[in-house]
Amino acid sequence: MKYDYILIRFGEISTKGRNRRTFIERLKKNIKMVMHDFDHIRYQSTRDRMTLVLNGEDAEAVAARLKHVFGIQSFSFAVKCETDLETIKKMALSSIQKQYKAGDTFKISTKRAYKQFELNTNEMNAEIGGHILRNTEGLTVDVHSPDIHLRIEIREAATYLTFRDEKGAGGLPVASGGKAMLMISGGIDSPVAGFYAMKRGLEIEAVHFFSPPYTSERAKQKVNDLVAQLTGFGGDIKLHIVPFTKTQELIQKQIPENYSMTATRRLMLQIADKLRERNNGLAVITGESLGQVASQTLESMYAINAVTSTPILRPLIGMDKTEIIEKAKEIGTYDISIRPYEDCCTIFTPTSPKTRPKKEKIEYYESYTDFEPLIEEALEYTETIILKSKVEPKETFSDLF
Ligand code: ATP
Ligand code: MG
Repeated sequence: MKYDYILIRFGEISTKGRNRRTFIERLKKNIKMVMHDFDHIRYQSTRDRMTLVLNGEDAEAVAARLKHVFGIQSFSFAVKCETDLETIKKMALSSIQKQYKAGDTFKISTKRAYKQFELNTNEMNAEIGGHILRNTEGLTVDVHSPDIHLRIEIREAATYLTFRDEKGAGGLPVASGGKAMLMISGGIDSPVAGFYAMKRGLEIEAVHFFSPPYTSERAKQKVNDLVAQLTGFGGDIKLHIVPFTKTQELIQKQIPENYSMTATRRLMLQIADKLRERNNGLAVITGESLGQVASQTLESMYAINAVTSTPILRPLIGMDKTEIIEKAKEIGTYDISIRPYEDCCTIFTPTSPKTRPKKEKIEYYESYTDFEPLIEEALEYTETIILKSKVEPKETFSDLF
């Protein structure tokens, strides 16, 4: 079936009072970015909805992309016709005929902005409903939970017939809530953490620490692909790749083995935090979830976190590994994450890292070494690339939300 419009309803945006305009503008921008190769679409927005005028673009293809845009509660498909009773009847019937299957139920709701129209809303519902019943088979009326809900909006200039309520991705428009730096490894968790941060309206940049020759180009490529996958939810993402070999070698040399992992994490966080500051972010995001591994006990988080007062967001904190894996599959990062690669941390991971490191102890061990020049050097040689918004979302994305 060919549609002329897609009507978008906002989610939580609607409750955002005076920030509403900014939110809507941001959402519009994000939608335009995702639709950038659909040249014919035109955008119109009012206080409580946005209309995409399709101008011949394929509604299903547009819808598949819309499903990944945060800040949309639901959307519907619409066609337009002349405000003339016979034309509306014809259009309503032919549209329903193209969609229903035997056994389906339907409902008509009319809204009449053009009060001079010859029938009122009740008469209109009865007239169109009767016309459809007389001309179809196996279709009955159900006003409570119909399979097909046809809304008719009568205006003077034109009449709109709206079908199907598709669920949107929910959340808030990406970048409506400020920027944060995502620490991304090649693992399963951190990309999912990035996804959730974006869902709550954050713009993200990503930082990855790699340690050649202990970690290969392949590992770097993997992170690249993970970040590219995340762009499907909110546009371009900057990825900073930090050379970390020298720092890790120095840690190996200077810090007692059972505290080397704590030191590694502390140094990573310090560097990530500096990059955050330089790029005007206000928080750091990690893929940590409580109790998963040695570095993720509460004592460990306390010792690592002590290097900064910047808020550290941990969107996965309450999730089980199985839930994280499920989400990773849904958002299309899982298959990339499970590719074999060398993680800079696992390579240097001691056989028995401290699960309850003490902040005072790690500070004491670190006090014998000046890591500052290496931090500066790592920042200086950081490579920054911009991953462009993906045009084709994975098919597995559709029907997710
Ligand atoms: P992930 O699946 O994201 O690797 P994980 O459960 O393996 O998570 P850890 O390896 O303990 O957890 O890492 C905890 C967090 O530290 C990661 O989620 C990520 O945010 C960050 N991190 C770990 N390694 C790196 C790295 N090489 N570069 C950037 N950040 C990293
Ligand atoms: Mg990991």
